[in-house]
Formats: sequence, C-alpha cells, structure tokens
Amino acid sequence: MAEIRTQIAAFRSPATTPAAAGTESSSAAFAQALDGTLRTARTSAGVPVELTKYGNGRIPESALQRVGTTGHRLWAPAATSLEALMCAAREQGVNIGITDSYRPLAEQVDLAERKGLYSQGGLAAKPGTSDHGWGIAVDLDLDSRAQAWMRANAGRFGFAETTPREPWHWAFRPAK
Ligand SMILES: [Zn+2]
Repeated sequence: MAEIRTQIAAFRSPATTPAAAGTESSSAAFAQALDGTLRTARTSAGVPVELTKYGNGRIPESALQRVGTTGHRLWAPAATSLEALMCAAREQGVNIGITDSYRPLAEQVDLAERKGLYSQGGLAAKPGTSDHGWGIAVDLDLDSRAQAWMRANAGRFGFAETTPREPWHWAFRPAK
C-alpha cells in the first residue's frame, strides 16, 4: 500500500513526468484509479466484489473501459492502470502490445475447446474461472526486453505475473 502511494506521488510529480499533452490528466486518472482500487473489496479469490453480481464472462460494457486507443477492454480501473503502465514503458523505449483482454464466457468456452484446459496441460482456464472473464487479466505481446521491464515494473501499476507457463499473462491484482 505504501509503495503504491509512493508511485502515485511519483506520477503526480512534474520532476519524474516529462511535460506532454495529456500527461497531467492521465496521471490524475491513474492516481484516482489506484486509490479507488485500494478501496475496492475483493473476494478471497482476489475478484473485485463489485463484479461478482454480474458473473465471470458477463461483465457489462458499463463496467469495462478501453485501454487507450487499443480495441481491448478491461474492468475500468485495470484499463486505466494498464494505460499508465504502457505509457511509462514507452517513455523508456519499451513497447508493450496487447493480444487479449476481457473475454466473455462464450469466448472462454471456445478457447478451452481449441487450446485445452490448463489443468490438463493446455492453455485455457476452465470457462467461468478465468481472470480474463472478470476483465482483470491481459495477454501481452512482449519481447525479451519488455518481459524484463514488466517483471521489474508491473507491480507498481498493480499488475502481477500470475500463471506459470504463461509469461504473457498479467493480472491486475494490486498488493495492499
Ligand atoms: Zn491470459
């Protein structure tokens, strides 16, 4: 928690944020999103309680938000934080692409059929259990430099590498 507050302060500080159009508003939005996320109650499985009323893979558009100009959608606080993360990476010359994000239930079923269940050596979560279905996970396109950058910096933005065998899979699970 203290670490995230420090990060918010760093984002607000002009000394660490190059002056650029939109920087002020995006850093403010990021700080607000992280503040809100820290207040968000989570289930023992780490799912934001406010999403459980919808169900996995049934999150309405109103609770989702696009990540910057990409067509990818996540739960709004996760989208805001990922956008800030990608912006910080870009400022250091590191490019991070998104290959997958929120995944409705029907897409989870389709993926499990095509890629097999993770528990059986495949690459898909059991439909209805994936963090993608809560809008809090992304699959990223990372070269080795970007992978290293993520491992060193993603935690400051609330993202964690949560699945062995899937170094591209990152979940928005801020540590308190
Ligand atoms: Zn994934």
